[in-house]
Formats: sequence, C-alpha cells, structure tokens
Amino acid sequence: MIEMQDIWKTYKDGTHALRGVSVRIDRNDFVYVVGPSGAGKSTFMKLIYREEVPTKGQISVNGFNIGKLKPRKIPFVRRNIGVIFQDFRLLPKLTVFENVAFAMEVIEAPPRMIKKRTMEVLELVGLKHKHSSYPNQLSGGEQQRVAIARAIVNNPAVLVADEPTGNLDPETSMDIMSLLEEINFRGSTIVMATHNRDIVNNVRKRVIAIENGQIVRDEVRGEYGYEI
Ligand code: ADP
Ligand code: ADP
Repeated sequence: MIEMQDIWKTYKDGTHALRGVSVRIDRNDFVYVVGPSGAGKSTFMKLIYREEVPTKGQISVNGFNIGKLKPRKIPFVRRNIGVIFQDFRLLPKLTVFENVAFAMEVIEAPPRMIKKRTMEVLELVGLKHKHSSYPNQLSGGEQQRVAIARAIVNNPAVLVADEPTGNLDPETSMDIMSLLEEINFRGSTIVMATHNRDIVNNVRKRVIAIENGQIVRDEVRGEYGYEI
C-alpha cells in the first residue's frame, strides 16, 4: 500500500528532514506517527500525499511510484489520498455541503452522484442536518468532521491525518478517533501524526516513532513513549 525505501528529504536550505527512512504500511493498517517537534513527521506525511517529493529513495503509494510521477498523473494519485489537518482548512465562504461536494467537482464526478455521495458522507460523520451551515457556525469538532467528510468523499484508499485532534478538547478528540476507526473499519488505511499521548495509549494501534529524521521505533500495538 505505502512503501518507502531509504527515503531522504533535504529541503532547499540544507535541512535534512528525513534521513534513510524505510517502512511498509499495509492495506487497512492504522498507524500513529509520533516524535518530537521538528523530527520529520509532517515531512513523512507530505511525501505520502505528494505535497513534497523525496530527495533520494523510492516511495510507492497504491502501487504508484510517486517520487517519479509525470505531472499529469498527480491528480489521479491525489484523489486516492484524503488529507486532514489540525486547522481543518475548510473554505469559509462555502457551506458544509459545498465544501464536501467541491472535492468531487474537482474530479468531475457527475452532479447526481455528487449530491448523493456528499449527503451520504455527511450522514456518516453525523452532520447531514448541518449541510447548509457555514464553517464559522460550527464547533471545532464539527469542522473537523466536515474536513473528514471532504477527505473521504472520493473513497480514497489512504487517509492522512496530520495532528487531527490538535485543536480539539479531549472528549471531542475521542469522538473524532471513533470516526477515524469507523473509516478504517470500512477499508481505508490511516496514517495519523499526533502529539496526543492519551489517544495513542488508550486507542492502541501501530506506532512509528520518528526522531531526527529516522524511524527509531515501530511497534504493532505501541505506546506514545514521550512525557509530553
Ligand atoms: P515535525 O512534523 O516532526 O515537526 P517537520 O517534518 O515539519 O517535523 O520538519 C522536519 C525538519 O525539517 C525541521 O527541522 C523543520 O524545521 C524542517 N523543515 C520542514 N519544512 C521545511 C521547509 N519547507 N524548508 C526547510 N526546512 C523545513
Ligand atoms: P496545490 O496543488 O495548489 O498545492 P491542493 O489543491 O493540492 O493545492 O491543496 C490545497 C490545500 O488543500 C493544501 O493545503 C493541501 O495540502 C490541502 N489538500 C490537498 N488534498 C487534500 C484532501 N484530499 N483533503 C483535504 N485537504 C487537501
């Protein structure tokens, strides 16, 4: 599903963000990526959704060698990867429905299908009744649910979540975790970078720890392992 072989990422200013990372994430895995700030977690995630390309090494996602992708193939790969962020990144001038539908319009899905599927995912995230609201009328947890709906509306094989609970209180964070587990249960692979110790220690999953650009720990049902 996701495979990295000896991945190096050096940014233009010379920062070595990843230094020789090799890992395999199988279909339907649920993986936490943990580690100190600046360790390379976001870079690791960005390589998966092809926001960045590796300086050296091979990375394949869903069978595509995405480090060497022809530009016209990039949208095709991206539609198979949903992404959510700590700060939700919804479009403020669009309604909940429009925010989600937009992701299907981009891939030119037929309008009838857009309506049906958008309402279907809004129901899955428990926000069907808020389809006409605007993001600023929603709580943080609700906004993250909309972001999740948008990320999964095209049925991606992989959902990448970069600190999805970073702006949420503990109870709302657990609700979001239940939703991510449901999405994983329905067949998506989930890769989630997090600093949330309670979640990692209570909702046990595979844990990959990155420090200083290298994987220092990879455990099947791991612990958070840091004090904060
Ligand atoms: P984390 O997500 O674990 O905090 P990052 O992947 O964001 O780590 O960053 C890893 C290292 O790369 C850090 O030293 C960071 O400052 C650096 N870095 C991240 N993005 C860039 C960039 N666009 N240009 C230069 N350095 C970067
Ligand atoms: P660009 O190609 O101009 O960088 P994108 O359309 O890929 O812009 O992405 C716009 C913003 O939305 C970026 O911050 C990107 O990281 C984010 N993004 C990309 N794909 C998704 C997705 N499937 N779900 C949620 N956010 C996404």
